[in-house]
Amino acid sequence: MASTKVTGIVIGGKDIKEKDRLVTLFTPDKGLLTAVLRGVRGDKAKLKLAKEPFSFGEFIIEEGKISNIITGFDMIDNFYCLSSDLGKYYEGCCLLDIVAHSISEPSPAIFMELIRALKTLCYDKVSAYYCVDKFLISVFEDAGYGFLSDKCASCGKVLVDKYFDVSIGDIVCRDCCRGECVVINEDCMRALNILSKTNYENLPSIKIEHGGEVLAYKLLKLNFQSKYNEKLGDLVSF
Ligand SMILES: [Zn+2]
Repeated sequence: MASTKVTGIVIGGKDIKEKDRLVTLFTPDKGLLTAVLRGVRGDKAKLKLAKEPFSFGEFIIEEGKISNIITGFDMIDNFYCLSSDLGKYYEGCCLLDIVAHSISEPSPAIFMELIRALKTLCYDKVSAYYCVDKFLISVFEDAGYGFLSDKCASCGKVLVDKYFDVSIGDIVCRDCCRGECVVINEDCMRALNILSKTNYENLPSIKIEHGGEVLAYKLLKLNFQSKYNEKLGDLVSF
């Protein structure tokens, strides 16, 4: 059997058979892939660290007849501190959820971005919503769905009033609004622009006013649902 070493992070999984687990890995070069961890649900299982969401490291994968089998795991990080803060944990799960439902082909850039977002979330004092909002903006841009512009996506006029047209996933002017449109207020737009321009490392030092980051998440969530047909969860901040 051919075996390969791949860098990846566990983004989900389900128990199968008596003691096995089927995990989904997000990898930079192969995108999403599933692989079985055999006999991993016992306390003394050698590879038990490899079965948990957020486990990030190098996996040895053997191609089996029916499925891939993980035979080795060298952990780099498991972002363990997320589990001691419920708000951060929800945000971390949301990041994994975004990947699970938006990645259809390999994207090394989004992989790197996910690791950066998790590191900031886990190890820095960053306000709620910032990491998830920023990550969503990048996912849309990477997929060609970027929508941050000061011009109407339909007629090209410089925008005064801004509306998000849900059906096209773009920002339009009042005259070009068709179908379901949501008004974007200045606080939301400012938050989106600030977050898209700030590196993860610098997110802890910025302060977004008037809850713009919450409004931004609402809008990004709406866009995610329209693009990927998946409803992202609410983030709870404590
Ligand atoms: Zn227009």
